Amino acid sequence: MTLYDTLHYSVVPPLFLLFFTPVVQVLTRVADPQPLSWAVFTGNAFSWCFTAVMVLWAYLFLVLPGAVHHGPTTDFGQTPSYRANGMLYYTATLAAYALVETLLLPGVSVLVFSNMAAILASLNVLALLLCTLLLVRGKTAPQTAEVVPPRPLPHEFYRGMELHPRLLGVDVKQLTNCRLGMMLWQLLVLVFCVAGARLHGPSAGQLVGAAIQTVYIAKFFWWETGYFSTLDITLDRAGYYLCWGCMVWVPCFYTYSTCFLVRHRSLLNDTQAGLVLALGLAAVALNYRVDLEKQRFRRSTGECRLWGRPATFVSAEYRTASGWHKARLLTAGCWGVARHLNYTFEIAAALCWCLPGLGHGLWPFLYVMFLSVLLVHRVFRDEAKCGEKYGKAWRRYCSQVPYRMVPYVF
Ligand code: NDP
Repeated sequence: MTLYDTLHYSVVPPLFLLFFTPVVQVLTRVADPQPLSWAVFTGNAFSWCFTAVMVLWAYLFLVLPGAVHHGPTTDFGQTPSYRANGMLYYTATLAAYALVETLLLPGVSVLVFSNMAAILASLNVLALLLCTLLLVRGKTAPQTAEVVPPRPLPHEFYRGMELHPRLLGVDVKQLTNCRLGMMLWQLLVLVFCVAGARLHGPSAGQLVGAAIQTVYIAKFFWWETGYFSTLDITLDRAGYYLCWGCMVWVPCFYTYSTCFLVRHRSLLNDTQAGLVLALGLAAVALNYRVDLEKQRFRRSTGECRLWGRPATFVSAEYRTASGWHKARLLTAGCWGVARHLNYTFEIAAALCWCLPGLGHGLWPFLYVMFLSVLLVHRVFRDEAKCGEKYGKAWRRYCSQVPYRMVPYVF
């Protein structure tokens, strides 16, 4: 076992994160001069209503009749199924928000902004209850015959037990990651923008940050079925890391640069804001392009053209419970430039939506700093997974595409 494995499978990282993430969550609220009260820990009537509406609304779209998408079959034979109506859910939610903010309850955005700490508290309580339920059920009545090696309890709580658990007829990770985490991110970014405009007048910088994030999140819902083949779904289990992360950390931390600008006005002028917008949209488009190239390559089983030439690849084989399978590792297009160029553009896009906070210290840049650590760590996690899965073929691929994120640098 390497030092990385020893640390990774010990209880130290989970205990650190279990302690550290809620502390940062509270600290980000302290940086905003909002009065602190017990609602920071327990929520209040408004925050519980808001949370209940969001959960029920998300659940409703997952049980609506409609197209079903099947994710990749696991090596223990489970084929997860998802509701394929991401764009409908996204547009319906934005339309509902526009209706409430303009007609039914004008000023609701300011109300949400001023109750943000309590909203996070409600989400926190709910997410911790869900993670506890998933842990108990995963240990006592798992839904599949997968054999998961036992780990210390804090690690199991943090990592989760099952890969694709279902609850009340819906896939838990689709509910927590896509329908709650991503939608809360979108909604809150718009809410903070409207609250900023209502309280202090419109700001080009804040608008630009929100616009880049909106394009990024709309792209996510457009491509939601593609998300079901990513590491969050195929590698990470439903536990604190993923479910608490999406229900609490994403709405708290990913939205923070826009939230911060409600009270601290962006110092960017219109020209600078326009430049940041152009750079941010380009980074989002490039991030999407990288993901799309792999998706097209996989869908065509390698018979496609990239950058005007037939795609090149390394042939690989891997074994699951059902036997040996063939795979192809793309070495053309963006995937021939570096092994994780999508992460590089993801970080560039995040930097752009944090830039409107320039001149206000480090607070508005917390998200991009966190994301850089998350994605570099993810590169190593992914490489460990692929090395184990594809063996020699993976090493051959790495020798053909030697850089991870930035050519000639890393
Ligand atoms: P990738 O989309 O990069 O997927 C990695 C997987 O793709 C590998 O495990 C392997 O899976 C397969 N693969 C790797 N190299 C090749 C290759 N050369 N040819 C073919 N297949 C290959 O990673 P993620 O799932 O982490 O990211 C998906 C998107 O989500 C990205 O745009 C990323 O930036 C974004 N993201 C955003 C985060 C955020 O918090 N904002 C966090 C994480 C991701 P297999 O076993 O199938 O071969």
